[in-house]
Amino acid sequence: MKLFNSLTRQKEEFIPLEGKKVRFYSCGQTIYLDLHLGNARTYSYWDVLVRYLRWRGYNIFWVQNITDVGHLTDDADSGEDRIVKTARDKNLEPMVLVESQIKRFFEDIDVLNIQRADIYPRATGHIPEMIEFIKDLIDKGYAYEVNGSIYFDVTKFLSYGELSPSSFSEESAGARIAVNPEKQNPRDFALWIKAPENYLMKWSSPWGLGYPGWHLECSVMSQKYLGETLDIHAGGIEHLMLHHPNEIAQSEAQTEKKFVNYWIHANHLIVNGVKMSKSLGNYILVREILKKYDPMTIRFFLVNSHYRKKLDFNENAFIQSQSLFNRIEDTLRLLDQTPGGKESNLQEEIDKVEKEFIKAMDDDINTVAAIQSIMRFIRKVNSSLNNQKLILMEAKEKIIELLEILGIKFDITSFKRNQDELVSSLVDLLINVREELRKAEMYEISDKIRTNLSELGIILEDKAIGTIWKN
Ligand code: AMP
Ligand code: ZN
Repeated sequence: MKLFNSLTRQKEEFIPLEGKKVRFYSCGQTIYLDLHLGNARTYSYWDVLVRYLRWRGYNIFWVQNITDVGHLTDDADSGEDRIVKTARDKNLEPMVLVESQIKRFFEDIDVLNIQRADIYPRATGHIPEMIEFIKDLIDKGYAYEVNGSIYFDVTKFLSYGELSPSSFSEESAGARIAVNPEKQNPRDFALWIKAPENYLMKWSSPWGLGYPGWHLECSVMSQKYLGETLDIHAGGIEHLMLHHPNEIAQSEAQTEKKFVNYWIHANHLIVNGVKMSKSLGNYILVREILKKYDPMTIRFFLVNSHYRKKLDFNENAFIQSQSLFNRIEDTLRLLDQTPGGKESNLQEEIDKVEKEFIKAMDDDINTVAAIQSIMRFIRKVNSSLNNQKLILMEAKEKIIELLEILGIKFDITSFKRNQDELVSSLVDLLINVREELRKAEMYEISDKIRTNLSELGIILEDKAIGTIWKN
């Protein structure tokens, strides 16, 4: 399997550190607002990656953080803590906001069939580990204290910014980063921030009362749960600029080991050419779009594009996803209902679709090509209903299995229930017809109904209360 590694800027064969064991960390949600479609797009891909690796026999342990402190309104250490600010605007205690948003986050990902990570560590639950980490960085000469805040000195970490694309110049970095007189260099970043007076979200530390910088939690929590070197670290493409270079600097300075072997970054969902984002206010919440489209239509839309390409939000794409989903559902229903025939030529196609699917997914999780191969198979199935029933059932299982890896699921129990209800209504109908025939003394035809039904395994028994049936 090949993954595009943002660090080397090329597709590389994926080889985990230790056999089939995969240590996977993805940057998670700053938990102050409901999930929007952009967030859902990124999380859907990490879900697909994990499902696929598990399907291929890897033993993956997946950690995704929940940021409940320290993420300021500007990623580069200026502004206010996003949670504190939103809580104040809503007249809530910060942790009340966090608890409610975590609950809503899980409701939103569950409905989109984004499976949950193995663990969701929270920043506020790891303050002692963060303090120890900072102490270590100070001891090793990578961090300095100014007036109760601690900063990482990027000039001490020689390969700082290696991950950022060359388009990210010093000049543009300087322009983005507000001047902070406490910093020795504009690109130094905060590890610990001194808390203002009367501030609730603060902890005691060797440097006084304060709270951790946003970047630190990912280095600390990934190390705690996954070890010093991760196999895969994932995040949004915007993290190439600050968050991930800062994570690398902290972790590698502290451990003197490579932090991550494969860095993968998901591109953005955009609206009219710009990133869908909370700060720009151009976002569409998952909860809003669910009023209009089924969860699986949304899920289809989210994964039917390559994760490294931008995806434009537009209604036509949703309508197209809905029609593809309906086409697959129609085929699955047909496969269930059709009696089948004598042919067996579909067997070869079943093997072929799986091979094509693997080829696509092994090529840097190419979900678009994977879906194309499934749709080709669907067309083939529709024209092969004369195959033996057993093979048709195998085809059905294969379609369900492959789409489930993309997080697209079908409510097949409802097909089954519908079918059971249908059979029962049809037998009742035949019993009534037989009764009418008997009343008209047309015994030859009424007996024929009874015999033919018994050949199908349906036994009619005439009782005093009327005719009952068993199968
Ligand atoms: P945030 O809500 O900004 O903390 O982002 C949470 C996750 O969603 C991060 O991995 C972001 O990269 C991702 N994300 C935010 N906006 C978008 C977007 N418009 N398209 C895709 N992913 C996004
Ligand atoms: Zn992170």
